[in-house]
Amino acid sequence: MMTKAEFPTTQALATPALGEPYLLTPGPLTTSKATKEAMLRDWGSWDVAFNQVTADVRQSLLSMAGVQDDSFACVPLQGSGSYSVEAALATAIPRDGKALVLMNGAYGQRATKTLEYLGRAFITLDKGDYLPPQPEEVDALLRDNPDVTNVFLVHCETSSGILNPLREIADVVKAHGKSLIIDAMSSFGAVPLTVNEIAFDVVVSSANKCIEGIPGFGFVIIRRSVLEAAKGRANSLSLDLYEQWVYMERTGQWRFTPPTHSVVAFHKALEQHNAEGGVHGRLARYTRNRDVLVAGMRELGFRTLLEDRWLSPIITTFFSPEHPNFEFKRFYDELKARQFIIYPGKLTVADSFRIGCIGQIDEYIVHQLLRAIADSLVAMNVDMQLPAG
Ligand SMILES: *Cc1c(COP(=O)(O)O)cnc(C)c1O
Repeated sequence: MMTKAEFPTTQALATPALGEPYLLTPGPLTTSKATKEAMLRDWGSWDVAFNQVTADVRQSLLSMAGVQDDSFACVPLQGSGSYSVEAALATAIPRDGKALVLMNGAYGQRATKTLEYLGRAFITLDKGDYLPPQPEEVDALLRDNPDVTNVFLVHCETSSGILNPLREIADVVKAHGKSLIIDAMSSFGAVPLTVNEIAFDVVVSSANKCIEGIPGFGFVIIRRSVLEAAKGRANSLSLDLYEQWVYMERTGQWRFTPPTHSVVAFHKALEQHNAEGGVHGRLARYTRNRDVLVAGMRELGFRTLLEDRWLSPIITTFFSPEHPNFEFKRFYDELKARQFIIYPGKLTVADSFRIGCIGQIDEYIVHQLLRAIADSLVAMNVDMQLPAG
C-alpha cells in the first residue's frame, strides 16, 4: 500500500488549513488562499473603489462569453444561483409566453417549479434522471408547439454530471427562431460558451462554481434587446433583473446591499482564472482531474453512471457498490476523516454518489483522494473484488 507521502503534491494549489477538508462538491468548493485573503477587508458599497470592482467583474464575464460589443449585458444579482435563474426566467419569458423546459435532472425540475411560481406557461421534455435531450426531439416539439417562445436548457446537469448537447440544441432552437435560456451554472468558466459559437439570449451562472469564488451572488449574461423589452415584467421586486440593470448602469452600484466580500473574492478569483489560461486552462485542469478520478475509481471497481461521451469535467456520478457493508453515510464519514468531502447522489433509480472535479484541486489531490477511498473501503470491510451480495 502506498502512503500519502508517495504522491507528489502541488505547490501551485493551496492546501487547505489544518483540518479543513477539500470540498469535492460542485460549489461551494475549495477556493485558493488568495481568494480567501481578498475578503480580509471591508468595502463601502457606494464607494468608487467597490464600484470599480463590480464594473471589472461584469466586463470580465462578458469577455469570457465572447461578447465584443454592446449587444449583451452582464447583470449580477445577490443570492445563490437559483435566485438568478428565477430572475432570468421572469425577465426573458413574457408573461404571456410559453417555455419548453428540457429536463434531465434536479435543475431542470427546479426550473419548472420556478415557472409555476412565476405563472409562466411551459411544456417539458422530461428525459428522467440522466438521458440527454436529443436535438431531433427538440425539433419535433418546437414544430408541434409553435406558441413556444423560449427554450430552457441546463448545460451541465449537476445532479448526474451529464454535459448536455448544447450546441446541437442551440442550433435547432435558432432554426425555429426561439429564444434560448441556458443554465450554465456549473459549466461557465470551464466549458467554452461564447456568443459566436452558441446562439443564446440568456446565460446564467454563479460565483461559487467554475470561476472558484465563494457563494453570494449569481450573474446573468443577457441580450440587451431582451432586457430592454422586460420593463415591468418581473414578478418580484428584489429579483427584478431589469431594474437591477438600469440602476447599475446609472449609478455603478448594486440596487440593494451587495455581497461585498463575495464580489471582491470573485474579482480575485477571476484574476487567477485568467492567469491559468482562462476557460481553456481551467478546462484542461478539470478534465485531467476527471480523467484521473474516473480511471482510478474504475481500477478500484466502481462504475460510472454515464458512458464516457457524456461525462462532464465538472462532477461524476458513481454507482454505490452493492456490497452489504457499503453504506454511504459511513463512506462519507470515513472520507471526511481523511479530509475529503464528497456529495450524495441524486438518482431516483439507483444508489449513487458524486465527486466533483472543480475548485482548487489538481490531479495530485485526486490521487490522494483515490488513496483515501481505497483506505475507506478497507476500513468498511468492503471488498470490491467480490461479486455483489
Ligand atoms: C448550482 C446550480 C444551480 C444553482 O443552485 P443554488 O443552490 O441556488 O446555487 C442551478 N443550476 C445548476 C445546474 C447548478 O449546478
